[in-house]
Formats: sequence, structure tokens, C-alpha cells
Amino acid sequence: MKIFFLDQSGKPGGAELCLIDIAKPHKDHCLVGLFADGSFKNLLEQNHIPVEVLTTQAIQVRKESSLAQGLGSLGQLVPLIAKVVQKAREFDFIYANTQKALVVGALASFFSRRPLVYHLHDILSPEHFSSTNRRIAVTLANRFASLVIANSQASQAAFVAEGGRPDITKVVYNGFDPKHYQSHESDVSQMRKQLGLDGRFVIGHFSRLAPWKGQHILIEALAQCPQEVTAILVGDALFGEQEYVQRLHQQVADLKLEERVKFLGFRSDIPLLMAACDLVAHTSTAPEPFGRVIVEAMLCGKPVVAAKAGGAIELVEHGVNGFLVTPGKPDELAQVIRTCLQEPQKTTTIAHNAQTTASQRFDVTAINQQIAVLLNTL
Ligand code: UDP
Repeated sequence: MKIFFLDQSGKPGGAELCLIDIAKPHKDHCLVGLFADGSFKNLLEQNHIPVEVLTTQAIQVRKESSLAQGLGSLGQLVPLIAKVVQKAREFDFIYANTQKALVVGALASFFSRRPLVYHLHDILSPEHFSSTNRRIAVTLANRFASLVIANSQASQAAFVAEGGRPDITKVVYNGFDPKHYQSHESDVSQMRKQLGLDGRFVIGHFSRLAPWKGQHILIEALAQCPQEVTAILVGDALFGEQEYVQRLHQQVADLKLEERVKFLGFRSDIPLLMAACDLVAHTSTAPEPFGRVIVEAMLCGKPVVAAKAGGAIELVEHGVNGFLVTPGKPDELAQVIRTCLQEPQKTTTIAHNAQTTASQRFDVTAINQQIAVLLNTL
């Protein structure tokens, strides 16, 4: 099966990291076409997945763009679509992994007569996308896609609520290799020492820095926790949210938390950093489509507290394999943090439950098998 994957991003967000796992078994007969150069390309190369940057001209459409702005970018898209059509003829499928990839992939699928698969990693709701973007995504998927793979029931439900065809939509969760999330005790203690975390209760937040990822909620909660509670914020502003980064630094200064909040930037050693934490917090203020970091924390054997919305509800059962709190409520988050601090035994048991179930439920081999079965039916 020869697959032509398309992704708009030069940087590795959750959708891109998921794509690496999906493309890996096809690396001898696939190509990943990107619409931007950057570190994602390097990651694909490190994984020996063939990759080509198809355009270096950024497509000027954003999640909140209007129809006029979208139409204005058509001129830019024509040469890209022509290139994709030409290449697609060498492959059996076009597999669009992002929304702009869907736009290009849909038209290329029509002209090259290759079936289109759309992997939906987003919740198509007003909180995340303009009505124009939602309409375009649903119309193109309905008209051109043979299969829509939604990364959670929440993403599927939002797609269908916007008018997406339920008959072509299937839910497949992200897959993970549990082995990748095991760390040696000596490396973990070295990491804690290196980051100055010895003797602290460490909460990890692993996300790009963006307002809806809610790092500010964790900082506010931290101010309501005992002095030994410290946070590491892992991630960078991937899509130009510099103003939010400045606001976070200001908030830390205003609350006098400089000694208790560490900004580590984008990191590639997530499993080791998670292993160095006592608790992992997910604080998105809008529904999360899936929430890779939640599963990753579970696989690392770390307790996780997540915002109760979107895909997170499908991953976490409160008090059984983690904790859920109301999104945007720092008081509730602080309460859970204090409970974890005071009841380490109970918290450890919950984390162990999570590790066992997550390694079965999200095993990458089984997930890739599910995708292969779906592709074979096309
Ligand atoms: N991540 C990373 N380095 C960082 C911060 C995050 O590799 O510095 C990874 C994280 O481990 C997760 C992904 O980025 O696998 C984020 O996926 P998630 O579904 O949580 O959010 P998204 O970026 O898709 O909104």
C-alpha cells in the first residue's frame, strides 16, 4: 500500500507526532509532503520516513480566517495542488493529516483520481475554528474523502454536528510505543538534580504555549499550593503566541513564583522529563481533541490531572486512572494537587492502574493495525 501523506506544518505538534507513528510501518513505500520546512522534517528523516517540502511559501490562512482571506490564498494553492496531483499518481492514497492538507488533498484527489483519507485531529467547534474554516473542512471531507479518521469520539461528534458524514467517519485513538516511556531511575534522578528539582513536588505541563492550553491556570493554582510545589512548563509557542508567553512570565513575576516555575522550552526528551515529575497537569480551557500528553503521562506511570472536556474524558476516569477537574478552574486544580501531595499511596495506585490500561488501550502496533484494516476496506 503506497501512501502519500500530507501535513501543513513544519513544526511537530501532536498531529505531526502521531503521523510519524502512522507512517513508520510504511516507510519503504510512502512519502510525507509538507507545506513548510522545519524541525518536523528533521524528525521524519531521523525516523527514516521519506519526506519532501512541497512549498516554502506559508499559506496565509489561519484557524480564524474568513472566506475572503481563504479565497485570497487560492493563488498560492494552485501550484502546490498541481505538484501534489503529479506526485499523487505514484501512490494508492492521499492521506491528509491537517486542515490545509485536506484542502490541497481534496482537490488533488479529484484530479489524480486517488482516494482521500482525512485524519481529523481537531474539534471543529467555534472555540477552535471560524465558521468558514469549519464549513470548508466539512464540505471537502464529505465530498472528497473516502474515510475520515477522527482521533476521539469528541472530534467525531463535533464533525458530525457540523454536518460531517457519519458513514465515512471512524474513531481511532493515537498509538504509542510503551517501551519509549520507560526511563532508568539513575537518569531520572540526574535530570531532577540538573533541573534543581530535588526535594520538590514537581508538576509537569507538556504543551505548546498557547492561551487555550491553559498554562496560566496551572500557575494560578500553584500560588494556592504549599511552597515545595514546583512546576515545569515544557513546550514553546509553536504558532506565534509570543504575547501569551510574555503574559505567563508576567503572571509568574506578579505572583512571586520565579523560584517555583521553570520554563524549559520545546524538548525532545519528554519521557524522561515526565518521569522526573510527581504529577502531570493538562489544563486546556477549550475541549482537547485527544490529549497525547495525558496518555504519555500514564505510560510513564505518573498521575495525571486533566481538564474535563473533549477527548480527555475518554482517556481519564476520575479517581480510577487519573483526576479530572473543571476546565479553567485553578481552585479545583489546586485542590487535586494538594490531595496528590497528601495521599501519595493512593495517587501511586491510580498511576499504576493508568499505566497498565494505557499500554493496552493505546499500543501503537494495535492502533496501526486498526488503521490498516480501515485502509484495506477502501
Ligand atoms: N511535546 C514535545 N515537546 C514539548 C512539548 C510537547 O514533544 O516540548 C509533545 C507532547 O509530548 C505531545 C505533543 O507534543 O506528544 C502534544 O500533543 P497534544 O495532543 O497533547 O497537543 P497538540 O499539540 O496536538 O494540541
